[in-house]
Amino acid sequence: MSLELEELYQEVILDHSRRPRNFGELAKTDVLVHGDNPACGDEIHLGVQFGTNDTLQDIKFSGHGCAISRASASMMTTKLKGKSRREATEILRAFQGLVTGEGTEQSKQLGDLRLFQGVRKFPQRVKCAMLAWRAVEQALAQTPGEATVSTETGLSNP
Ligand code: ZN
Repeated sequence: MSLELEELYQEVILDHSRRPRNFGELAKTDVLVHGDNPACGDEIHLGVQFGTNDTLQDIKFSGHGCAISRASASMMTTKLKGKSRREATEILRAFQGLVTGEGTEQSKQLGDLRLFQGVRKFPQRVKCAMLAWRAVEQALAQTPGEATVSTETGLSNP
């Protein structure tokens, strides 16, 4: 492992990848999104239950993948749980900007998620880090039901 790559696996990320938070299945799921990152072999099944005032009342994920994809999903669910759709979308855009290096959004609200900034040097790792976020982007965009997203296709062009 290169020194640069080692910097990615900081303590917080390792901890989340080993003991993912919000891992499992929801008792009640409004939207279920299956995400796939064939470049690495990561898979995620993201369940969201929306609350009465349009919040992400509960959010859980299952599946398997590399440390980065698991940690990203774990930290994402921790961050987005209880947030409104609007807040979740803002955080999603900020995170996307952070890992791709293309964002102009403020990253203050990202907190620990800023640790993922290092992945922007590794395009394959950006896909790993973004998988869960693409899944939640789809979940936010659709009406109740099930959907599939992949890092190899754009959301607007499935
Ligand atoms: Zn991966």
